[in-house]
Amino acid sequence: MEALSKSAGTTAALEPLYEEAIRDTIVRFEETGSPVVTDGEQRKYHNFWTYSVHGMPNTDPDGFRIPFAAGHVRRMPRLTGGPFRYQRQADKYLEVAMRYASVPVKQAVISPSALSLMYPEREIPRYPREQFLEDLLREHEVETRKCLALGAHKVQIDFTEGRLAVKIDPSGRLLHSFIDLNNLALARFSKEERQRIGVHTCPGGDCDSTHSADVDYAELLPGLFELKVGNFYIALAGEKDRKRVLKIIREHMKPDTRIFVGVVATINPRVETPAEICERTLEAAEYIPVEQLGTTDDCGFAPFCDDTSTTRDKAFEKIRARVLGTLMAQEALQNR
Ligand SMILES: [Zn+2]
Repeated sequence: MEALSKSAGTTAALEPLYEEAIRDTIVRFEETGSPVVTDGEQRKYHNFWTYSVHGMPNTDPDGFRIPFAAGHVRRMPRLTGGPFRYQRQADKYLEVAMRYASVPVKQAVISPSALSLMYPEREIPRYPREQFLEDLLREHEVETRKCLALGAHKVQIDFTEGRLAVKIDPSGRLLHSFIDLNNLALARFSKEERQRIGVHTCPGGDCDSTHSADVDYAELLPGLFELKVGNFYIALAGEKDRKRVLKIIREHMKPDTRIFVGVVATINPRVETPAEICERTLEAAEYIPVEQLGTTDDCGFAPFCDDTSTTRDKAFEKIRARVLGTLMAQEALQNR
């Protein structure tokens, strides 16, 4: 992280450091007993949101703003001209992760809707929005296809801006335009492929703070479940009223989908006990058919690379509690 803070994130001198961070993450992740691992997104330069466009020449830094409750703001680059092209795709990360891993690997990619925010409000001369969206959908499709072809256990589309969209536009129009755009991309995949694709939703999790925790899940979840994917990764552990959210999930979830509920509050410094995780999982099983239920962490532990609010040791302790607690719940459900 020190080396990264002194560079743009892409210099050759960082290569061995990235490689070691990925290797260490996968070794420690597997030691928790987790049946599926990731590379911890060690390689995504500054964050999960703009890794694919990091260093893109036709941009300015003064793009879309994400304000967090703690008072800080994250910004994304603003597109200044066409064409829109990814600088890199996540299958490159997956390839490295799979080299180190001995269990299945999940790969996260950023949603088309998140990157659509790079296009400015005023139309770019000679690069109309329609052309941009066409380019964006193609880039996303290619990235997702490559990850599937390489053997990703699941491809998770990060959709943190879903809940934020309801905050920006309480009418729900922005959220629905995001869902429509993402569904245009998903429609390019077969039903079988979509069973290996999932969507992650959360209120944001940066420096132990959120961007949209005040938005009622009731405003988001019915729309979210319109997304044509086989898996949903829903932050839940940090919610004030989990039972209420679970009721909304039960009401709106579709058949042939799996719901991974967040049982680890990634922005809460306290490490959960396995017994607590077990309790949260059993609670979820009261609302979600057990064959459609899974557990996950609420979000990433540091979606932006300079976030030091959670140590690596603590992150792995929390993951270990999740794995143990989920196993306890599984046994309890089997003996029911
Ligand atoms: Zn998240």
